[in-house]
Amino acid sequence: MSHETAHPHGPKEPRARSSGHCVVLGASIAGLFAARVLSGMFDRVTVVDRDALPEADENRRGVPQGRHAHAILPAGTRGLQQMFPGLLEELEASGVPVVREPTEMHFAPGGHLLCQEGRYADPTPTYQPTRPQLERQVRLRVRKLPGVEIVDRCEAAGLISTPDGARVTGVRLVRRDDDTERELAADLVVDATGRGGRTTRWLADLGYDQPREDKLAVDIKYVSQNLRLAPGALGRRKVVIVGAEPGRPTGATFLQHEADRWMLTLIGYGGHHPPTDPSDFLEFAKPILPSDVFEALCAAEPLDDLVAHRYPASVRRRYERLDRFPEGLLVFGDAICSFNPVYGQGMSAAALQAEVLRECLAGGPDRLAHRFFRAAARRIEVAWQMAVGSDLSLPEVAGPRPLPVRLTNAYFGALLTAAERDPALTQEFVKVSSLLSSPLILLNPVTVGRVVLGNLIRRH
Ligand SMILES: Cc1cc2nc3c(=O)[nH]c(=O)nc-3n(C[C@H](O)[C@H](O)[C@H](O)COP(=O)(O)OP(=O)(O)OC[C@H]3O[C@@H](n4cnc5c(N)ncnc54)[C@H](O)[C@@H]3O)c2cc1C
Repeated sequence: MSHETAHPHGPKEPRARSSGHCVVLGASIAGLFAARVLSGMFDRVTVVDRDALPEADENRRGVPQGRHAHAILPAGTRGLQQMFPGLLEELEASGVPVVREPTEMHFAPGGHLLCQEGRYADPTPTYQPTRPQLERQVRLRVRKLPGVEIVDRCEAAGLISTPDGARVTGVRLVRRDDDTERELAADLVVDATGRGGRTTRWLADLGYDQPREDKLAVDIKYVSQNLRLAPGALGRRKVVIVGAEPGRPTGATFLQHEADRWMLTLIGYGGHHPPTDPSDFLEFAKPILPSDVFEALCAAEPLDDLVAHRYPASVRRRYERLDRFPEGLLVFGDAICSFNPVYGQGMSAAALQAEVLRECLAGGPDRLAHRFFRAAARRIEVAWQMAVGSDLSLPEVAGPRPLPVRLTNAYFGALLTAAERDPALTQEFVKVSSLLSSPLILLNPVTVGRVVLGNLIRRH
């Protein structure tokens, strides 16, 4: 257990300080973000994970997504800047590629290659560490916060509560080494155990209703590989993202992680899954990638075997709609909302929830869960609507398409068409898809005018 001083330039802690002990279940990105916020509010914060947490930048069982392309959007980058000052600068100094100019990114959502001219108006760049690298750097900093202890190889097996179930008073933990069980008392338990979401079952055990789940089945498969590319093989580009489009429900993300080390992830919706045989994998990539990128890929040296991951459905648990919820318990991160990962929103949504948690804790402990769930639901609403809306623009994804969804998707199609040649429209779209701006900016009269004009010019 470490008690080193927190970074002196960290965000200001809220005034209403609680005392006592908080237990965070799950030491992945959301659990670590929650611990960062809670460490300013509780005397002690214990973060528990069932995995052995690696000393190096290695993948681990509980975060299988770490083996696949993982990008943090600018909204998440801002959260990292606020919570862990200096972290991003250290990543860059250690050689992590940073995207600052449109020419460094090939971004083609919905079949439209966005304009690569001009400069980004928003100064938030995109950092490209590997997922294990980012998680370990965040973990190292959380471990140094005052009063924080991270306990690994320990599984949360259930909640402890008052006899009437009105308040959660701790957790039951099972050590993975020897299966011994112990109880850990807590004034607040935060469930950040990921999309598996233990709380739904635990609520039922305590006699509460389970939250309603909003779900969109996408049946996505990821297949990924690390590759060595000749320096400069892709010119100035440091990232290539090709999204799915109607009629081709497949896509690719090609991310530079070091000067010559890249990760390629191919994705496909149900019925169009990427293969795990190396030669078929290349064939699958061919119609997705620009031809020069495909050529570079053919000349690249594979650094490991192909790995696959299935993602069945986006799931949003509507905790904010429950009438009753025990005191002393919160749910956080993917356990509240797991987005189709092709839009890269999960870690940024966790950063947005961390902001909300900080604000809610500042309001004191009264009805904390109720206030947190409502505010978090509002903060992630846009991300959820954008992910679900984009998926529903693909005829291959089954689901209801009410008029607002069809109108929004038609407008996005027109906007992306115009953005192919319009740097200003590209920037506005990127700001919205990065979760930095409300989609309402896309409806201001000047933007709508540019969309109409851009489409008229394309037709003539
Ligand atoms: C294939 C894929 C690609 C993705 N790509 C991106 C991307 O590009 N950008 C992005 O922002 N997001 C991406 N995401 C989402 C992102 O990984 C998550 O949003 C992010 O990790 C935050 O999730 P979390 O911490 O809530 O849960 P998780 O990351 O799932 O972590 C849950 C943690 O809880 C632990 N745990 C589980 N059960 C227990 C238990 N009973 N007791 C103790 N510990 C337990 C696990 O070991 C793990 O450490 C992707 C997800 C997937 C599946």
